[in-house]
Amino acid sequence: MGANVTVNLGVEMTANSLSLWAPAKVNLYLEIVGDRPDGFHELSTIFQSIGLMDRVTVAVHSGPAKISVDCPHPLVPNDQTNLAYRAAELMVQAFPDAASRQSTIDIAIAKNTPVAAGLAGGSSNAAAVLVALNMLWELGLTHQALQDLAAKLGSDISFCVSGGTALATGRGEVLDPLPSVSDLWVVLGKYDNLSISTPWAYKRYRELFEGEYARDANTQTSRHDQVRSGAMVRLLSQLAQGSRDNLDKIRALLRNDLERAVLPDHNKIKTLRDCFQGQAPLGAMMSGSGPTVFGIAADGANAKLIQSAIRQYIPDPDLSLWTAPFIAQGVHLAPNTV
Ligand code: ATP
Repeated sequence: MGANVTVNLGVEMTANSLSLWAPAKVNLYLEIVGDRPDGFHELSTIFQSIGLMDRVTVAVHSGPAKISVDCPHPLVPNDQTNLAYRAAELMVQAFPDAASRQSTIDIAIAKNTPVAAGLAGGSSNAAAVLVALNMLWELGLTHQALQDLAAKLGSDISFCVSGGTALATGRGEVLDPLPSVSDLWVVLGKYDNLSISTPWAYKRYRELFEGEYARDANTQTSRHDQVRSGAMVRLLSQLAQGSRDNLDKIRALLRNDLERAVLPDHNKIKTLRDCFQGQAPLGAMMSGSGPTVFGIAADGANAKLIQSAIRQYIPDPDLSLWTAPFIAQGVHLAPNTV
């Protein structure tokens, strides 16, 4: 282990290795606005970080130029296709001097977030590697600079760097932070043997609804403006200020356009979503491209009650259920690193 250094969080840590929490996200709102010249979809989405987190440990040392990933989860690749690997590769390319001093990078991922679940699990792992290497190599990059790098790797990774509550446009990488809502909870449900590919979900949406797309930039901008000044953002701002007067309105404001593409082909997810809607008075929705379904709960005790009610309705052992609070941060230091 090397000498201790002070990094921009103002804490002492061992120079060669650190562990970070990489939180998952849900989409409280996801509107597909239209097409983009790059072939992606133009989105207006509201991300919310939740306390379901992977632990990502990054170690750097001098030695052969090599990146390794160790994640024991059967669905996560340990090769160059792992998003965490690609994040390290990008940092090596962008900062060759720092990389040449400590060119062996070992990444260990302890997975708690389900894979291919619409919760940005891989994206948050990649964000953790960007944040970790910024600290370990003492690059002094701002969140904005890290988010610009993140956008080169994938659409959700920029948000995962900063986390909290944010409105995102573009492919999901143009971020407008919102006041953090941190005293609500979610109940999450996912069938272990059911995964949805994000590219498939968007392709299916295009096949079905391309005729509705806003194509010109002005119309797209005006859709973003309507979301930015719309009822969901107003309600979240009230909640962030501690007022729960209109909390019950959240049920009608949750939106995910991808449900229109995914649910008709996946009756199991639709049934699960209906069950969540029945048990969670504050509403339920599929997250991102699915197949995870989440329900909003007023607090942790309420989340546990909803979880056990859903378990009673669907005793299928293939269904995993979690509860997690909304949290106000993205990637952050895990205990034992300070
Ligand atoms: P998003 O919500 O950003 O679309 P997701 O939650 O639906 O992401 P991921 O968990 O990121 O999906 O996994 C998508 C695919 O990426 C999986 O098939 C998996 O094999 C691959 N993958 C690559 N790296 C990782 C990683 N570090 N963690 C999880 N999956 C990864």
